Amino acid sequence: MPVLVMKFGGTSVATLDRIRRAAKRVGVEVSKGYDVIVIVSAMSGKTNELVGWVNETSPLYDAREYDAVVSSGENVTAGLMALTLQEMDVPARSWQGWQVPVKTTAAHSSARIEEIPPANIMAKFGEGMKVAVVAGFQGVSPEGRITTLGRGGSDTTAVAFAAAFDAERCDIYTDVDGVYTTDPRVSAKARKLDKIAFEEMLELASLGAKVLQTRSVELAMRYKVKLRVLSSFEEQSDEAGTLVCDEEEIMESNVVSGVAFSRDEAKMTLVSVADRPGIAAAIFTALSEGGVNVDMIVQNISEEGRTDMTWSCPVDQIKRAEAAMDAAKASGEINFHELIADTDVAKVSVVGIGMRSHTGVAAKMFQVLSNEGINIKVITTSEIKISVLIDRKYLELAVQALHDAFELDKVA
Ligand code: ASP
Ligand code: MG
Repeated sequence: MPVLVMKFGGTSVATLDRIRRAAKRVGVEVSKGYDVIVIVSAMSGKTNELVGWVNETSPLYDAREYDAVVSSGENVTAGLMALTLQEMDVPARSWQGWQVPVKTTAAHSSARIEEIPPANIMAKFGEGMKVAVVAGFQGVSPEGRITTLGRGGSDTTAVAFAAAFDAERCDIYTDVDGVYTTDPRVSAKARKLDKIAFEEMLELASLGAKVLQTRSVELAMRYKVKLRVLSSFEEQSDEAGTLVCDEEEIMESNVVSGVAFSRDEAKMTLVSVADRPGIAAAIFTALSEGGVNVDMIVQNISEEGRTDMTWSCPVDQIKRAEAAMDAAKASGEINFHELIADTDVAKVSVVGIGMRSHTGVAAKMFQVLSNEGINIKVITTSEIKISVLIDRKYLELAVQALHDAFELDKVA
């Protein structure tokens, strides 16, 4: 029997009624002849509540007990989903991560999946069971302790099962009906994409389009797992949602596939640091050890052996960055004149695999922003992405203008 993986996010299992709805969809796939592996999240809001309980009980908690507590939301939905399927006369049972077992590293609260032996579940399929309901987000460490995979981790559970069981597809049911060219709340012309390449999805996922956990996309790309993102609140059809797939499967694509953005950025400039070998290493080691997630980096031209170093980071990490730089200055590792923080910036990016073979995308992007009178503060590029930092108050305008200029509302 071909295997299908179906993952239901928190909103899709938020109530008993919704679990029933989800179970009906599973029943449809079973009737088509699939053996189905269902991966469930906790009911929406549950994991946040559990995290809150842990923090309130023990601010400097033991990460192993954190995982024991926060993994429990998925145990509830897995059991309820199995019961619901049984009530529909679909042979089903639930598995917690350790029972499969989903073997992970020991990095509690952000463990990585190392191996999923399919034997136990396959044996049950062989005995006539039709649906294996697996609690997402959790696994077991080499020491035999419960682990979790980081927030949003059941997406990664789903993709890992699809790879381990050589599934035909991995359907991710969520509360949006697919991946859009940009956030529909910002541009009314945002269009749902039928297909998007893994690499584009990775750029969009890490740029804050919170549809899929970034690691799940990396995993899908590595194992060439066909991923489909679709809404559990819409009518079921084979064309629904967005297929995230290998670029070879996308015949025609726009040069630019999407405009992504992240609103809460800060631009920090270290003024007048010595321009000598090792200075960038010293600065960014100190920032990284201080827990600052640096994104863009620009080193300005130097004059008389001094230079300015500029980077961007999330706006809520400014205090950490300042503390790290002050400490590095006090210890004599680096010397600088001052640290300036611009807290009102946002990042806008255009993403598309077509950029590999088309020139002029950057020029066009800059022209569009210039036509709107928007000043660009920092630019970075990769093979399939161009990002700029601009004043936050122009974010919506920039996204809309770029979406229009690259005609993302039209199918290629
Ligand atoms: N319930 C977990 C979370 O909220 C995992 C998931 O839903 O993907 O992060
Ligand atoms: Mg999610």
